[in-house]
Amino acid sequence: MEKMRAMVLSKCAPIETNPLKLTIIDKHEIKKPNEILVKIEACGVCHSQLHGIEGDWKDIGIPPTLPTVPGHEVVGRIVKIGSNVTKFKIGDRVGITPLLEACKKCQYCKEGKEQLCESSIITGESLRGGYAEYITISEDFATRVPDKMKPEYAAPLFCAGITAYKAVKAAEPQLHKKIGIFGIGGVGHMAIQFAKLEGCNVIAFSRSKNHLEIAKRLGAINIMTFSDNQDLPDKIKEKYGMLDAAIVFAPADIVTDVAIKSVKKGGLIVIAVVGKNPTFFAFDEKTIRGTVIGSTKDMEQVIKICDENNFEVITETYQLEDANQVLKMLKESKIKARAVLIP
Ligand SMILES: [Zn+2]
Ligand SMILES: [Zn+2]
Repeated sequence: MEKMRAMVLSKCAPIETNPLKLTIIDKHEIKKPNEILVKIEACGVCHSQLHGIEGDWKDIGIPPTLPTVPGHEVVGRIVKIGSNVTKFKIGDRVGITPLLEACKKCQYCKEGKEQLCESSIITGESLRGGYAEYITISEDFATRVPDKMKPEYAAPLFCAGITAYKAVKAAEPQLHKKIGIFGIGGVGHMAIQFAKLEGCNVIAFSRSKNHLEIAKRLGAINIMTFSDNQDLPDKIKEKYGMLDAAIVFAPADIVTDVAIKSVKKGGLIVIAVVGKNPTFFAFDEKTIRGTVIGSTKDMEQVIKICDENNFEVITETYQLEDANQVLKMLKESKIKARAVLIP
């Protein structure tokens, strides 16, 4: 059996204790005729890995099994194909979202909402994850990446990019619609660009000055520092008027509450993070909508839009072995937008 390097998690623990260990494990091999073997060129470091590794999400079943190789924003080149593969050839560059596999038979899958499939397999929640040198996937769930797109540019599109795209779409963007984006990191900085492309007036909220500067540069018409201050919704109202819609990427219930309070009656709030039940008053006729990644069709759109419009993807690259260190920096808000690991 051929071997490969991977960062393996055997037990959930605080990232300060370096729970990911560089390990030599069996290299994945093609097991089904429709699978491709991908040599990973880059894998983005997503905030959800931090939660999974530290055990914050045990109550929602993440990680479902141990040991695992985390990582679900993967880009690489195909080095081997199964006998029934028709969509790709050896040498093609592809990317993988958190949706590694779905059943393709259930109602959700048939409606093109395979991200909701009850029997889906998530990338990075088994040994098939991106913090490694190789991964296998069914050709149906891989998306072509143009050759000219650098791996470290493309990788973050496969979770951050698609999440941002889907959330902006869920906010029903229109010309001059006033949309508040709460949380400007890997996902938020992409969402600003998708919303701006639709002609929306974006107001960006973040606790970090650096993130707000990035937001301004990427086209937010206004920026505001997020604080836990009780009267923040009033301040927003006073300065900019009520929002038409809000999108929440910051994983904190207080942010969701402020977002709901800052949206006008009848408005729309899109929540793209795991959280508890927010404060919600029915008679305001507001709509709260949840989103999670997107379908393979959505992913193709994201690649196309980012390519055609020269979207900026802010990344910093690190070695695979640096995964613990990078996640620690992410925890301390020291990553500008997205870190990418290169095996
Ligand atoms: Zn992610
Ligand atoms: Zn299904």
